[in-house]
Amino acid sequence: MKIIMLGAPGAGKGTHAKGIVEKYQIPVISTGDIFRQNIKDGTELGKKAKSYMDAGDLVPDELVCDLVVDRLQKDDCKNGYILDGFPRTIPQAEALTEALKKQGTAIDYALEIFMTDEDIIERMAGRRVCAKCGATFHTENIPPKVEGVCDNCGGTLELRDDDKPETVKKRLDVYHEQTAPLIEYYKKQGIHYEVDGTLGVEGVAKAVSKILG
Ligand code: AMP
Repeated sequence: MKIIMLGAPGAGKGTHAKGIVEKYQIPVISTGDIFRQNIKDGTELGKKAKSYMDAGDLVPDELVCDLVVDRLQKDDCKNGYILDGFPRTIPQAEALTEALKKQGTAIDYALEIFMTDEDIIERMAGRRVCAKCGATFHTENIPPKVEGVCDNCGGTLELRDDDKPETVKKRLDVYHEQTAPLIEYYKKQGIHYEVDGTLGVEGVAKAVSKILG
């Protein structure tokens, strides 16, 4: 099962992808996580990506597409995968469609987690990410057992630089301009499904289960 998670930054794509993983045992491939790991490791790719990310801009397509297509060749992707944060532009979507076509395959579901900008801005202000293991929490919706401390590894929970309100507004503009056109793109392919992102973790999981079966 090959799934794309669509939706604005902060709509909960990553959180809901994790629920799907547990049920279907397929990996989540998050381009945002790959870039953050590269920044942490001080790689060339990380250095190139950082300035774009800090400004709330997209990393250029040429730095993203090959990276994802290579990742999809790995063994753990044999039974499918969930793409979180990719594609984010029409050229990325076209590159993905072409790469999969060459392998005689295609994406099965483009799941859009829908939320209004107002709801997203409110939600992002409460999002906290573990500095050590990358786990995501929310001060109200998914609170850690101990405030500011990761349940999984005891690391410190932080507000991501790009979750700060000014940057969130910029990222939403970028989303509407460059990523939202993907909704039409996948509607035309007949694989677009919309889920209400305000239903909460369990509500969204139920709605997603109905779609995926
Ligand atoms: P995310 O964690 O998915 O919200 O990604 C964080 C940041 O990484 C984005 O704001 C972009 O700067 C960059 N990024 C992640 N995925 C992509 C992508 N597919 N194309 C371009 N930039 C990306």
